[in-house]
Amino acid sequence: MTNAPPRSGPIVVVGAGMAGLGAAATLHRAGKEVIVLERLDVVGGLARTVSFGEHVFDVGPHYFFLDVSDQVNELIKSSMKPEEWRPIDFKIGAKIGKRNVPWPPSASAAFKLPPSSIYTFLRNSFTQNIPTAYSAKEYMRGMFGGKLWDVFLGPYMEKKVPSRTGLKGELHRDWWNQTARTVHNVPDVKRDKTLQLEPKLVERYLERYPQVKAQQPAEGGDSKEERSHPKGIKRAWLIVQGLFRTAFAKNYKKVLYPPRGVGMITERVAEAYEREGGTLHLKASNVAFETEGHHITKVTWDGGEVVEPECVIWTGSIHRMCTLAGIPREELPFFTIMLGLMKINRPLAEGDDLYTYIADEDIVFNRIYYPNRSVGGLCPAGKDSLCVEITRTEFRDEKERAGLLDKIAEGLEKLGVCKREDIEDIEYMFVPDSYPVYPMDYREKLDRIWAEHDKFDNLRSIGRSGQFWYNNMARSMRVGVETANDLLGRYEP
Ligand SMILES: Cc1cc2nc3c(=O)[nH]c(=O)nc-3n(C[C@H](O)[C@H](O)[C@H](O)COP(=O)(O)OP(=O)(O)OC[C@H]3O[C@@H](n4cnc5c(N)ncnc54)[C@H](O)[C@@H]3O)c2cc1C
Repeated sequence: MTNAPPRSGPIVVVGAGMAGLGAAATLHRAGKEVIVLERLDVVGGLARTVSFGEHVFDVGPHYFFLDVSDQVNELIKSSMKPEEWRPIDFKIGAKIGKRNVPWPPSASAAFKLPPSSIYTFLRNSFTQNIPTAYSAKEYMRGMFGGKLWDVFLGPYMEKKVPSRTGLKGELHRDWWNQTARTVHNVPDVKRDKTLQLEPKLVERYLERYPQVKAQQPAEGGDSKEERSHPKGIKRAWLIVQGLFRTAFAKNYKKVLYPPRGVGMITERVAEAYEREGGTLHLKASNVAFETEGHHITKVTWDGGEVVEPECVIWTGSIHRMCTLAGIPREELPFFTIMLGLMKINRPLAEGDDLYTYIADEDIVFNRIYYPNRSVGGLCPAGKDSLCVEITRTEFRDEKERAGLLDKIAEGLEKLGVCKREDIEDIEYMFVPDSYPVYPMDYREKLDRIWAEHDKFDNLRSIGRSGQFWYNNMARSMRVGVETANDLLGRYEP
């Protein structure tokens, strides 16, 4: 975005998910006039909580990472009641062969994995060695070893992003990595170690943010080679540190999970924003722009308009943003997942994993999540809930879905979770645009869009869909908060 004179109208934020609310709340607290437009009748976007009768589910498993941004954590904490701030251990698992393995693998998994894989994974973590391959497959093979690819990661990826979804060719490794991006959608080399291995990206980042270059440590420190492949005593010391960390540290990440589902996070941020005087329009349909050159002169929606918005922060689909702004669209695929939300007629066995990845190709779902393991009371007493995630496309057709419940039940029985007769009811939920998928040439396509996007003096497209960014909730909210900081002249890359 170029430096433009300030406009008279308010800042319009399209979308009340993590990114939109992060931006809106920060701007409003800094004294800006802000209008949020959300097309649904609830806030939260992908991170909302839904009900199936008296059973409460998130839109697939959702845990908020607390190690991403202090400013984001503060924003949320200041909007919630103290008792709603519930950090829990992020324990998840993978079904590898017949075994349940903590994911990512730790020392306790050493005897459950192919020995070559645990060796490769531990060696890489100890020496902080990062594979440089661009394809997700080669990257993962480099990270975890070929054997683990063959027995788990390969079959899992085929289930998660089936070739049947129409995506031809390989996936880019940035997809696996959830590569960091800045508020200007530049690969964020400062925050992403894998990107630091690409000199061109480092150069581009420093060109965009010369202030970072000025803060670089003086020449004469460790060479880049020395930093990524330490030798001698340094290497031995890193290995010792790594061994201790892996073997003895309680290295579960802390994640936030509020008492009534993850949707409470955005609900509370939105409530605080409105309480403090911010404007939020739910059910705002047909948002459209009027433009003059590379400038948005008007935003309209059913029932309202804003003339001369100071800025438009867009968090909806990148494709829709292109259409509205007159930017040529690119083939950047998203896929839709299907969730099976189930009422279970008895309490299930207790367990540690909040969710489990399933690679077994005979099982129809690729992930299973247990809503009541995050917090109790998300269903009536004496009952339980389960949710499975399915990306196979054939079940989109209602006729083919007829036998699906039996297939899901077969999978649950095989995993020892429950039996067919335990499932009281099931509801299928489609989640469109749930995952952006990165073909090998996605970076060039995204760059072409951003070259046009950046010509606008009052448009910012951010967030998971708005940046075509496979990210998480905390990163989406952080980009919202940091975009606000940027508009306020306070952004520090
Ligand atoms: C199955 C699944 C599991 C996940 N698990 C985790 C997890 O465990 N931890 C984690 O941190 N992240 C997880 N994520 C990712 C997380 O959901 C997203 O990164 C995050 O919620 C994205 O927020 P956002 O604001 O960028 O986008 P969205 O949530 O997509 O919000 C965009 C908002 O804009 C609205 N909108 C779109 N178009 C328009 C329009 N034209 N007009 C008005 N409004 C519009 C939408 O309705 C929506 O409310 C998961 C995602 C999925 C799909």
